[in-house]
Amino acid sequence: MLDTNREPFPIIGAGPAGLACAIVLARAGRSVVVHDRRKQPGGRFHNDFQGLENWSTQSDILHELAEAGIDPTFNHAPVRQGAVFDAWSAAYAIKSEDPLYYLVRRGDANGSLDQGLASQARALNIEIRFGDKVNEKMGPAVLAIGPRTADVIAVGYVFETDMADGNWICFDNKLAPLGYAYLLVSGGRGTVASCMFTGFKNQRYFLERTVSFFERRVGMRMSNPEPFGGYGNLRLPRTAIQGGKLVIGEQAGFQDSLAGFGMTYALRSGILAARSLLEGLDYAQLWRQELLPLLHTSISNRYLFNLAGDRGRRWALSRHIAKNDAKKTLHRLYRPWWLSRAVLPLALRRYKAPLKDKSCDHVNCACVWCEHGMAEGKAHAQTQ
Ligand SMILES: Cc1cc2nc3c(=O)[nH]c(=O)nc-3n(C[C@H](O)[C@H](O)[C@H](O)COP(=O)(O)OP(=O)(O)OC[C@H]3O[C@@H](n4cnc5c(N)ncnc54)[C@H](O)[C@@H]3O)c2cc1C
Repeated sequence: MLDTNREPFPIIGAGPAGLACAIVLARAGRSVVVHDRRKQPGGRFHNDFQGLENWSTQSDILHELAEAGIDPTFNHAPVRQGAVFDAWSAAYAIKSEDPLYYLVRRGDANGSLDQGLASQARALNIEIRFGDKVNEKMGPAVLAIGPRTADVIAVGYVFETDMADGNWICFDNKLAPLGYAYLLVSGGRGTVASCMFTGFKNQRYFLERTVSFFERRVGMRMSNPEPFGGYGNLRLPRTAIQGGKLVIGEQAGFQDSLAGFGMTYALRSGILAARSLLEGLDYAQLWRQELLPLLHTSISNRYLFNLAGDRGRRWALSRHIAKNDAKKTLHRLYRPWWLSRAVLPLALRRYKAPLKDKSCDHVNCACVWCEHGMAEGKAHAQTQ
């Protein structure tokens, strides 16, 4: 249990995982200090839009955060409908009664998830030391420094636009190998990207195809486009405790293997770590109970997604997701179900090692991982 008489409790990393943990501890009266290597909140991101998914649990993610004492002090637009394209460019309208996800911005802009959580933390007297890279931490701490390698990358543009709000996704290996291309527009700003699980070396080619696809199919118009890229780490953690320190968020490997959605895992694991410190609960038991079943299902879903191929994905889209309430259908798919349980042993064997894109040999390669990630990866390794 956390000793209140000691120095402020250190959390390394001011992403959603670290800040969620810090806010819950501070609301319970604990003194906390957060260290982040970047100069400002959200420094890893480019003010691109991301989706805070709302389908993996029955309740609403914002209610879940509120129950833990985390207020939505960031812009969050509920998304209840959109369009999904299959590999033949056929469009399927999807809709749901409750928000499928909340559109948030990631980066240093006012109203971003990162700025909003950082302001909330500061209002609770949490000290956040930006520009403070931690390579080694003695004693107790929570580690939340984000991904350590690139199993998935996303490259795209953030831009201004006169388009109406909307969101579009396309499952086509010619745009995003084994992943998806997406276009998100809200309030005169847009994000277009190819999120790929392989083919990193040809990221420019896939991005060009993604841009021309959305220009052609939905009339995408970009003003002042700025290129951006990022990477994510998918792996099933054996443990989320290293050297006696609790590890949360993407650093622990908490990430959805199907879509690369890690924000809800980051927030939830931050809350679980705080509860374990406050209530003296076993963190290993908490994350295994709350997060492992979802992680297992997401690995099975990734296996099924790859196995299904273009035709199987079209069938799932046209027969299930577009025909029914999309949140309810995705909710069923994201909870353990008979097929996910049946294929789990195969999926675990297939994805035992980090996915690591074999097409990226790190030689003469300009993919986001080769450009930025490897140096950070080495720095991350030193904090262990
Ligand atoms: C382009 C892109 C699109 C994405 N889209 C979505 C989406 O739509 N939905 C979704 O749910 N997820 C999405 N994700 C994934 C999601 O952003 C991450 O899973 C989430 O940010 C993980 O949160 P975290 O707090 O664990 O780590 P991070 O957000 O990475 O935060 C870690 C922090 O630690 C700091 N840090 C690193 N090293 C050190 C060090 N040595 N010392 C001190 N500080 C350090 C970093 O500067 C950073 O601020 C996307 C990711 C990318 C790259």
